[in-house]
Amino acid sequence: MSTCMLCHLSFEEVDSWATLFSLAAPDPLCSSCSDKFEKIDGERCEICSRPFSDVPGEYREGNLCYDCVRWENDSYWQGVLKKNQSIYLYNDFAKDVISLYKFRGDYAISSIYKTPLKKAFKTHFNPSYFIVPIPLSDERLYERGFNQASALAGLLDMPVHEVLARTHLEKQSKKGRTERISGENVFRVVGEVTDKDILLIDDIYTTGSTLRQAGKVLLEAGAKTVSSLTLMRG
Ligand SMILES: [Zn+2]
Ligand SMILES: [Zn+2]
Repeated sequence: MSTCMLCHLSFEEVDSWATLFSLAAPDPLCSSCSDKFEKIDGERCEICSRPFSDVPGEYREGNLCYDCVRWENDSYWQGVLKKNQSIYLYNDFAKDVISLYKFRGDYAISSIYKTPLKKAFKTHFNPSYFIVPIPLSDERLYERGFNQASALAGLLDMPVHEVLARTHLEKQSKKGRTERISGENVFRVVGEVTDKDILLIDDIYTTGSTLRQAGKVLLEAGAKTVSSLTLMRG
């Protein structure tokens, strides 16, 4: 018997050869909890992973959603984020789990994402990528005690490079796309990234603005490409 990490009910594990020989970690969630996460599958926006089942026809153009078309039509942001891969839809259940995870300051809970995250990495990326978590501001880090993006990056069992830092322009992120074209950025690069294919790690892709700001400074610092792997697509 195992105890589900979210609902704390006991459940019977399905034994597979892999778990029997300890090759795979035991499942941390009961099936009723794991079923509440909605995996993104089917046709989706080529850049941001938004499922097209969610997007009315007039909000897509070819293989891109309208948001990505707008980013790509803007010469400042064009090509900054090569591709975002998300695993789950940010549904109500995912919202609850993410806030539990952020505010309980609980590293253990991140382990529920280990298998799906590693699988997504293996399917869409490869070990030559340079893994960079999106940093929290010092203030938030102090409040929460840990950065969930770093915790997620750590689950990949790959070297993690903390080469981004927050600048003191946090309020900037509340502004719209146009104001941000002023060249001010909430991130700065604090490590060597020349010629790297960067893979940014974060918990949620919402507007894509955070990831693109990070991408912009990384490319300016010499990175070759910037992609992202995010747990949820908001
Ligand atoms: Zn459960
Ligand atoms: Zn898109």
